[in-house]
Amino acid sequence: MAAKPKSRMELIASLAKRRGFVMPTSEIYGGIGSSYDYGPLGIEMKRKLADLWWREMVRKHENIVGVDTAIIYHPNTWVASGHVEGFTDPLIDCRQCKARFREDDLVERFAGGVKGADEPPLSADGKHIDPAHPAYALAPCPHCGTKGSLTAPRSFNLMFRTWIGPVEEAGEQVYLRPETAQGIYVDYPQVQTTARLKPPFGIAQIGKAFRNEITPGNFIFRTREFEQMEMQYFVKPGEEIEALHYWKDERHAFWRDACGIRDDNLRVYEHAPDELAHYATNAFDIEYRFPFGWDEFEGIHNRTDYDLRRHAQHSGKERDLQYFDDQTRERYLPYVVETSAGLNRGLLAILLDAYDEDEVEGNPRVVLRLDPKLAPITAGIFPLIKKDGLPELARKVYQDLHREFDVFYDESGNIGRRYRRQDEAGTPFCFTIDHRTLADQTVTIRDRDTLEQPERPKIDQLTNVLRDRLFAK
Ligand code: ATP
Repeated sequence: MAAKPKSRMELIASLAKRRGFVMPTSEIYGGIGSSYDYGPLGIEMKRKLADLWWREMVRKHENIVGVDTAIIYHPNTWVASGHVEGFTDPLIDCRQCKARFREDDLVERFAGGVKGADEPPLSADGKHIDPAHPAYALAPCPHCGTKGSLTAPRSFNLMFRTWIGPVEEAGEQVYLRPETAQGIYVDYPQVQTTARLKPPFGIAQIGKAFRNEITPGNFIFRTREFEQMEMQYFVKPGEEIEALHYWKDERHAFWRDACGIRDDNLRVYEHAPDELAHYATNAFDIEYRFPFGWDEFEGIHNRTDYDLRRHAQHSGKERDLQYFDDQTRERYLPYVVETSAGLNRGLLAILLDAYDEDEVEGNPRVVLRLDPKLAPITAGIFPLIKKDGLPELARKVYQDLHREFDVFYDESGNIGRRYRRQDEAGTPFCFTIDHRTLADQTVTIRDRDTLEQPERPKIDQLTNVLRDRLFAK
């Protein structure tokens, strides 16, 4: 029987592992569900994406500054933010096979009815499981099929807990942050005064967040540990809607123009009122057409003054959290618009979008059509053959360029194979040093996408050639 063709996600996951982009963590022990390590190519690409975001948000805007806050905050932060109470997913267990389901998944499954019952076992508004409904006793476990084995929904907090101090019970219970935003809210008055900012202004941060997700999966789409690139934009009340639309358009343009994701694989989705998170009044998602369907990889939210107000109440420091405008003598809690992107999910979208298969001179080729700015290796440097002084000259070219660029020296295998290896890693250019180089100091440039070698610049022009191509857009 012919093997089932691989899905795009499987192809990317296997390429990522094979080439050292992303691999399951601690594999010698069998790995741990949905935790991944980034290898040499993956970390380069992840850093480039993070740097591109930082440049876009912080360098390009005079009124946006950066911070790097702790991962463990004072636990009251999470009481105030509503996460202790509200950051939960209702779960249902099967008493028979111990499988665990999210309530919303079962709502979807049972909405069409349950065999032997007149009505589905849902609440009156159809949004929750009603465990007291007679049909619930007939509802089968989707995993083992046993009827009546499903528990009532129970809330499960998504925050990871730990303890400070050597003795668990005596120590203070703290949380690994499930989002980076709260660290910005509680620091905002100090940042605002030290950087002498006036609304509208933004505070940006890139950092790890942790969520004990019930249903992680789809490679690095949903993991329990991930990185966020967040910017919190503080505005005068009344100016938040304009800011929300401005940032929604800016963020969409970033993924399309700076990262090169194809526009027909991107869309902006506006949340309906009943889909909003507990803190938001308006929200847009930037979605990518993932192999399993459209899904979010960045959210733009109007968080109003919800978070600052809650922190004011819980800390008793309302006055400190207010902004004082010394020209108008007004004092107010700013409104906040946030742009919250997943670094790993964004990377996944870019990899999926860049993956391509074609044919070169009758041979199949796998190629990542990454934007040159994001490619882990910017240029491959090859001697055409391993003799006649070509390797020595090629190594010199490599030494000169590697101070400024991510270049890779390769002399093993035939030249076609070396090109193919770089195509698969997404390397946009390859420089080949051949016999003519010995005579006139020129090299060939081979372009990953056009496969053309239109020019032969001199070795001493290569720095400018790369600079021009990297900053072409
Ligand atoms: P989802 O609905 O997918 O759980 P969310 O709406 O809870 O996401 P936000 O809280 O808005 O997500 O977080 C902002 C961004 O952080 C998301 O768009 C996503 O890119 C990233 N993110 C959130 N949870 C995860 C996760 N478990 N793994 C990887 N990235 C995540």
